[in-house]
Order: sequence, then C-alpha cells, then structure tokens
Amino acid sequence: MKRLANTMREMIAQEGPITVERYMSLCVRHYYATRDPLGAAGDFTTAPEISQMFGELIGLWMLEVWNAMGRPAPCRLVELGPGRGTLMADLLRATRLLPDFKAAASVHLVETSTSLRQRQQAMLAPLGFSVEWHDRLEDVPPGPTLLVANEFFDALPVRQFVATERGWCERLVGLEGECLIFGLRPEPEQALGNPLRLGDVLEWPAASVDLMGSLARRLALDTGAALIVDYGYWGPAFGNTLQAVKKHAPVDPLDEPGEADLTTHVDFQRLAHAASQQNVRLHGMVPQGSFLEILGLGARASALKARATPAQADEIDKALARLTERGPKGMGELFKVIALTHEGLEAVPGLPALSSFS
Ligand code: SAH
Repeated sequence: MKRLANTMREMIAQEGPITVERYMSLCVRHYYATRDPLGAAGDFTTAPEISQMFGELIGLWMLEVWNAMGRPAPCRLVELGPGRGTLMADLLRATRLLPDFKAAASVHLVETSTSLRQRQQAMLAPLGFSVEWHDRLEDVPPGPTLLVANEFFDALPVRQFVATERGWCERLVGLEGECLIFGLRPEPEQALGNPLRLGDVLEWPAASVDLMGSLARRLALDTGAALIVDYGYWGPAFGNTLQAVKKHAPVDPLDEPGEADLTTHVDFQRLAHAASQQNVRLHGMVPQGSFLEILGLGARASALKARATPAQADEIDKALARLTERGPKGMGELFKVIALTHEGLEAVPGLPALSSFS
C-alpha cells in the first residue's frame, strides 16, 4: 500500500494545509486498517489485553444492569472499537452465569478496520453468540442496549485551536519542503470569542460529541446503559494532548503518519455535557482503579490465584497492580469511567449518580 505520508504530502501540496482533525482522522483510519497494534509486540497494551479480569468484571456489571433493566429480550450488546475482541470475549464468558442472558443477547461490534473485524470474528466465534459488525453506532438496530467502549474515544479526531493575539486560530498540518509541520490558520475562529491567555490550546472533539449525542438519543428512547472507559480528565481544561505512540514509546505525531497510534486525552465533562442534552442519567466519573476494586477485582484475583501455579499467581498479582496503579500515569488513576443510562435506571454498580456539571 502506498505510504500515507506520500498521499498526505500530495494532498497538502494540491489543496493546502489540512486541519489537525483531518490529519488525525486519516492517520487513525490508515493505522488500524493496516495492522493489529495491540500487545507487547505491538504499539500499546489495553486493560483487556493485560488481564481477563477486566472484561469479566465488566461482564458482571452488564448482567447486573440487564437485571435492573427488567431482563429485556432481545438486548443489543454493543462494543465500540473492540480491538482484538478480547474484552467482548471475556465479558461474554462471565455472563454464562445467567443462561437467559445468552438467549437474549445479540452482539454488535462497531469497527471500521476490516483486518481487526477478522480477528474479532476468530476470537468470538467459539462462544456461540450471534455477532454483527457495523461501521457506525447509528447502524446498530434499535432496542434495549448495553454498550461498552474501552480506549475508543481517545482515537476519535479532535480540532485544535491556539490562543493568539488575533483570537483562537485553528491548528493545521502543512508542508515545509518535504516535511509535515504544524501551523495556524491566519483567520481566527470568531465563534470562540477572545482567549484569556496566549498560547493556550483548546481541543474540540467534534466526532465524540456527535457520537455521545447519538448514544444518548438511543438510551433516551429504549432502556439501556453505556459504560465508557478511557484516559482523560474532567474539563474544562486547556492543553495540547495530541500524542503518538509506537512500540510502547512516544514519537512525534507528524513522524510517519498512519504508522503510530495517534490519540488525545478524553474530556469526560464534554462527553457528559453532550449526553445531558437528552433525557438520560449520568454516573461517575470514577478512576478505573477504584471502579474495578468496587466491582470486586481483589476477590476475582484471589479466586483465580487459588487455582493457579505460582508463576500464574505472580502474573495475576502483576496484572492487578497494573490495572489499579495510582499516580498521574498509572492506569488506575489516569483512566476514568463514566456511564450513561436510560432515565429509569437510577443506579449502576461502581459509579455514583452524577447530578450536575461544573
Ligand atoms: N477496545 C479495544 C481496542 C482499542 S483500540 C481494547 O480495549 O483493547 C481502538 C479500536 O477502535 C480499534 O479496534 C479501532 O480499529 C477502532 N476504531 C478506531 N476509530 C474508529 C472509528 N471511527 N469507528 C469505529 N472503530 C474505530
């Protein structure tokens, strides 16, 4: 396949600089279409790839919420961006506790990468659930829904604006000779008003906001719940969080476009706000470590260790420590969890109700 860098250089030479949003969107699509980036041999490792316990606890969360929903059948079990399908496989195994759930559930995977779809199919086929793939959430048939998204929103493209003396100017990617470089659109974005501090960076996750709107409309109509886990913060906040990772180390986001994992940190306040335009309930936000501990991670680890060899027990301890690690870079603290539900669902396991925005 022609390298994305060449296509991008030709495009910019012909059409002029492109927005960071467009750059990110082209890179992310190419990146996932051309590889399986997960795991120790890839570029990054996600929670379900660290331990089966992550997916299992989410499976138990789903069962409890399904009970609270009144055990609807059929029930759409949806995952956004399932990667290798590991989270869905572990989750489905845990739901065996309640055979009625298997009879009711149909699995819907929202995934744009054809190669990852194949991996997901291979992972899930032995479990015997009906599985369908979709390009967009809007294509999933209506009805009661349980949805999960882990490390999905961070991959959706954002617009970036930089505070200048002229106002908020959109950050662009242009060309200097053969090199891709960041620049600014000369005319400011009038609708954003005047910035307070020069140099501030404002990120606008248009695709995430649209998706939250569509998810919330779905959960306002039919009963259901959505669980969102990702690295991020509760905004508003200013800062450039665009990052590229290759082989588990940071790289320049403009180096080798489409060959590194390009993401931003998720502003959960914006997601919650977008959802709150509909008649839904919000729960959280809680750090991943606390969420998993409340759901019984410690007990699950002990149960697995009781049947494990000493080497396996050591692996389980390491996984537990990694999933709950505190500190600004630890998964247990950097990753956050929120849920949104149909208004009839007043409580969900592990997350307090969220009543207001600040
Ligand atoms: N949730 C998985 C993988 C996260 S990687 C895990 O926790 O291991 C991000 C996933 O989202 C990949 O499967 C990628 O192909 C998919 N993806 C990225 N952008 C997407 C988009 N716009 N629409 C649908 N899927 C997308």
